[in-house]
Amino acid sequence: MISRANLERFLLGLNPVTTVVGTDFDGTISVRAEEPNQARVNPVAFKALHDLSALTPVVVISGRDSPFLVRQLCNPGEPAEFDLMAEFGTEVVPRGSRSRHVSPVFARFVSGVTKYLADQGIHGISFSFDPEWENFVLHFDDEDAVNKIDASLRSFIKSTDLYCAPGTYWDGSIRIHNLRDKGWALEGFVDQHPQARDVIFLGDDSWDIEAFKALRRLEAQGMNTLAVLVQSGATLRHLVQGAEKAKDVLLLRNVDASARFLSGLAELLSVKRDLRDAAHVLEPIFGELADAV
Ligand SMILES: [Mg+2]
Repeated sequence: MISRANLERFLLGLNPVTTVVGTDFDGTISVRAEEPNQARVNPVAFKALHDLSALTPVVVISGRDSPFLVRQLCNPGEPAEFDLMAEFGTEVVPRGSRSRHVSPVFARFVSGVTKYLADQGIHGISFSFDPEWENFVLHFDDEDAVNKIDASLRSFIKSTDLYCAPGTYWDGSIRIHNLRDKGWALEGFVDQHPQARDVIFLGDDSWDIEAFKALRRLEAQGMNTLAVLVQSGATLRHLVQGAEKAKDVLLLRNVDASARFLSGLAELLSVKRDLRDAAHVLEPIFGELADAV
């Protein structure tokens, strides 16, 4: 786990101009419900995310669909005040909108795989998205090259650790299923904000480990990052171990603690701080640190 000294150094170094905040939904800003459609966003977290979005870029990255996230995280009839990434980053409802668009995950995939294939001497590739099957389709000029393209594509995906499944079809097309990866989603969001230097992500389950791994990649690019793991469910020990492999984590007890952390963060970013001003904001955050697991 992250030490208190390192956490304090990170939080006090934050500047709203360079900070980006991302969070998962279920189990992180919403208590898990027995009937998933009954889940509701924590009202303190809801207010904190809106406060934060006035200061700094904010994104919610969830496995939920876009209409659910719009219902939970937009005021009735109003556009989104921060980006909502649904279906593990496959879709995005951008700030200022209530409708979904193709997400930065696809944009990153297209630019990454195009460059990789070009480096292998493979050109003449184009891409499209088939919304009916939610497949990402590769088109290529030379059908004889399909095996070579398929092999190169798989080695590209392996090199990135990206979560998805490529397949070759009877008509010679290559399709990518389940291109769903919160890590790529978070990196795509950060890419959209060139001023970003400090990136925070909150999550609670195994899908969020991909985002924590992305934080480590962003650190390798010189950014400061903080992974916040919210305690939920019986698999916590396993998750903490997975998260620690990806990143030193700040462990919080539950969704209420996560909501209070986000509120404190909004307050910290909203005031021009010195150490004395920040103390009353930081103490409740430190008070929320979960016991060692
Ligand atoms: Mg979750």
